[in-house]
Amino acid sequence: MTCPLAFRFSYIDRIPSPASIAATKGSIVHRALELLFNRPSTQRTIQNCHLDLVSAFSQYEQISDLVDLNLDELQRKELEVQAHDLIDKYFEIEDPKEIKPIGLEVKLQAQVDGTTVRGVIDRLELDKAGELIVTDYKTGSPPRNNSESSKLNGVNLYALLCQEVFGRIPAKVQLIYLAKPITIIAVPTSSTLRGVKQRNNAIVQAVKTACTKGEFQPNPSALCSWCGYQKLCPAKGGTLPVA
Ligand code: SF4
Repeated sequence: MTCPLAFRFSYIDRIPSPASIAATKGSIVHRALELLFNRPSTQRTIQNCHLDLVSAFSQYEQISDLVDLNLDELQRKELEVQAHDLIDKYFEIEDPKEIKPIGLEVKLQAQVDGTTVRGVIDRLELDKAGELIVTDYKTGSPPRNNSESSKLNGVNLYALLCQEVFGRIPAKVQLIYLAKPITIIAVPTSSTLRGVKQRNNAIVQAVKTACTKGEFQPNPSALCSWCGYQKLCPAKGGTLPVA
């Protein structure tokens, strides 16, 4: 989390982030792809993936992310159509029958320079040479060229976690943007991971300073459209809650 104010709302004030259609659509599509990769490779067809999406929607019928949206019939239909469209787009990017996943929604945790770092990798797989590949699905818009590297911060952090937990740097990290669809690929190196550590340490230091001073400034960015705290954020015309 790179916005100090969003950090405060989430981790200090413990304000639950309100459900949003974009985030819920992303979660349901992620679940459908997880179900797809739980199938034997020969069954990973587009037809089965659409069925998995229907199953994912059923599972979310009981989950607040979907329930709290209170969608009317039209909105619900629109959400389903958009989600099925993302599944169609996914199959333009790769053939899931050829992927060898070794973990889905993999939770990793490590101590990095005295700080506990956690991450959940959408898909961890092996390439033909037996090297690790980290894959992260994105259901939002792909970045413009000049912000591509910042979008890789998350997957590079996962690469760091792979190094810390498994003792291996992944051969490749990739972001699959389903909506376009495009894949952004990077090859992390020791130097990349040193940069990730430095950035992580800088964020920890900034959070510590903000906690000490009690000052949590908004840091508007493209991520604001996914932020559930916009109504509380002065940078978005919202009103800060009384402390
Ligand atoms: S809307 Fe943007 S600036 Fe405001 S709290 Fe959320 S991420 Fe931070």
